[in-house]
Amino acid sequence: MSLTQTISLEFFPPREESARLKLEEAARRLVAHRPAYVSVTYGAGGSTRAGTADTVKFMQSLGCDTAPHLSCIGSSRAELVEILEGYRAQGIRRIVALRGDLPSGMGRHPGEVHYADELVSLIREHFGDVFHIEVAAYPEVHPQAGSASKDLDHFIGKVKAGANGAITQYFFNVDAYFDFVERVQGRGIDIPIVPGIMPITNYKQLARFSNMCGAEIPRWLEARLVDFGDDMASLREFGADFVAGMAQRLLDQGAPGLHFYTLNNAKATLAVWQRLNVA
Ligand code: FAD
Repeated sequence: MSLTQTISLEFFPPREESARLKLEEAARRLVAHRPAYVSVTYGAGGSTRAGTADTVKFMQSLGCDTAPHLSCIGSSRAELVEILEGYRAQGIRRIVALRGDLPSGMGRHPGEVHYADELVSLIREHFGDVFHIEVAAYPEVHPQAGSASKDLDHFIGKVKAGANGAITQYFFNVDAYFDFVERVQGRGIDIPIVPGIMPITNYKQLARFSNMCGAEIPRWLEARLVDFGDDMASLREFGADFVAGMAQRLLDQGAPGLHFYTLNNAKATLAVWQRLNVA
């Protein structure tokens, strides 16, 4: 690493043995560059509880400061506290606190903690300042938000409940990020808001994710990606150039770091880092 800003990495718990081997290889290659911390996702409703715990332990065994994600929707307070007790006992000091989305078909499980601000409050209530808490931010507005201003109010609510920092949903519109940061600062809040960076390696997969999470692929970018058709090698080259250019602009204009959605794939993140002179 040679950037002064922090770089963090996100992984997800693998479902099968071959995926576990892929994750472990990717993690070893990426953590060799000494990121500030790594995070591990958690399936809402506890669907990856064991897998997240195993992956967190693996990341700790590599010597990484590891931040488990924890989503509250569909869970009881006791269950959340029990998970956090376990993390405290194993030396975890950073949590990414989320509401989560229950998979469709599971219905509306009320649970006891409905929004991420309530989870942040629960963590502070039970654990004081033991954990550094990151929350999610949406420069292009969360898809279920009633309005941009309500979404901003809800974000501020998470900070007031005790969040120390935020990681954004990925985006391809740099202006949206700086507009969001400015609006947050305009409300007197000055926590680090780190852009989430999604490497581009596969147009169809990207389009599917973006549709689900409300990240806009600008028309011109979509047209360029579609043009590559089955020429995946050229698409990956173009994607790495584009994402590295965007990341550099974010850093040059003051972003406090970059959080990479690795998708458990070292190559795509390394291709961006090489262009940023990180690797
Ligand atoms: P919240 O901050 O609770 O907001 C959710 C929605 O409700 C927003 O529209 C908000 O405006 C609104 N809202 C908030 N508070 C209130 C209120 N009091 N009244 C009415 N409306 C309100 N999902 C997972 O399942 N597992 C993961 O590991 C995971 N990791 C993620 C990591 C990052 C960095 C990001 C950006 C997202 C991640 N997600 C993950 C996805 C996330 O769970 C979804 O985007 C989810 O829909 C919202 O979670 P949140 O924590 O942002 O929710």
